[in-house]
Amino acid sequence: MFRVGIPVHIDKDTTLRVKILDACGLTCTFCHNEGTPVAIDNRHRSSGEFVASGSSGRASIYAGTNGATFLAAPMPDNDEFEQAIAALRDALELTELHLTGGEPTLHSAVARLTRIAVETGYRVGMTSNGERGERVIPDCAAAGLDRVNFSTFGTTAAELAEVQHARYRNPVLAQRKIDALKESITTCETNGVKASANIVVPDYSHAPRVHRLLDEYSPHLTVRLLNSLDRGASSIDAIERILADRGAVAEARHIIAGVSGARTIYRLPDGRRIYFKQIRPVRLPSTCTGCQFNNGTDCEEGFYGIRLYYDRTGSFQVGVCIQRMDLCLPLSEFLNSPLRREILLLRNTEYRQLKARRAG
Ligand code: SF4
Repeated sequence: MFRVGIPVHIDKDTTLRVKILDACGLTCTFCHNEGTPVAIDNRHRSSGEFVASGSSGRASIYAGTNGATFLAAPMPDNDEFEQAIAALRDALELTELHLTGGEPTLHSAVARLTRIAVETGYRVGMTSNGERGERVIPDCAAAGLDRVNFSTFGTTAAELAEVQHARYRNPVLAQRKIDALKESITTCETNGVKASANIVVPDYSHAPRVHRLLDEYSPHLTVRLLNSLDRGASSIDAIERILADRGAVAEARHIIAGVSGARTIYRLPDGRRIYFKQIRPVRLPSTCTGCQFNNGTDCEEGFYGIRLYYDRTGSFQVGVCIQRMDLCLPLSEFLNSPLRREILLLRNTEYRQLKARRAG
């Protein structure tokens, strides 16, 4: 964890991920959809009958096994939302809010949600596939949006088509989506919003994708390489080989205490930086103890932080794990629960331990 010879920065996790919409215009086969079942395919099913994929072609890979009890509805852009995120800010000392989906740019009030979150004291980011970014990012930027992480599933139409549901493996459609992604990245740049591209590298056969991303996209785009959770060492080795191919040198490591996320920053010979984002095996000390997935392979994300949902009955739900959606609690219950205290305790204890380890 502590690479010899590079500085290690340790911060506390203060991020809330908010699923603002279930809809999405892509059908990526590996999508976890933030843990909730695809709403359009499950709207006539009850809890316990939810399926991981249906006739829409979209997937929510854990939905058949994660015990989800609700479907996500569009996040309301009103006082209720403001009060929910203010309550979580105070309960967990949060400072960052990350809009997710589905595809957040398809929410008709994404700029208004951004503004409410900014005015509630959050720095606001978004994960997007770039579908409608060209149209909504200027308003989101005016509302205070800080950054967008673009999920980059392919750098060519063929690559993107390959990871879509068989019915939508259409290179013409895929090219349109890639053009939209490039436009969205440019729109970020012209509106002062930071842009990064997240790209998962399952093995070294994916190296050309990464090289194309670095060679053909804007040099201002931050590239973040993610190891594939289910591909173990071959994914990590591939990323290290790609970094070596580019002559990248490790500069610093950032560890976020209290959650599984960590990243190492590399510098390329031309001064550009690449991030290697990895998952650490962090668990909630009590909640994870009895979990059936708590082993070195089945728990794919570790404890990644908390997520806020709005369900179709008009309640806010707080989740701690996309593989165990049965652990979700209604917001009012969460605020007074041992789970909230457990999250704070984990964060503060790990922060102290990591600092002590770095000093030693
Ligand atoms: S993070 Fe989720 S899947 Fe992993 S052990 Fe904890 S509850 Fe289980």
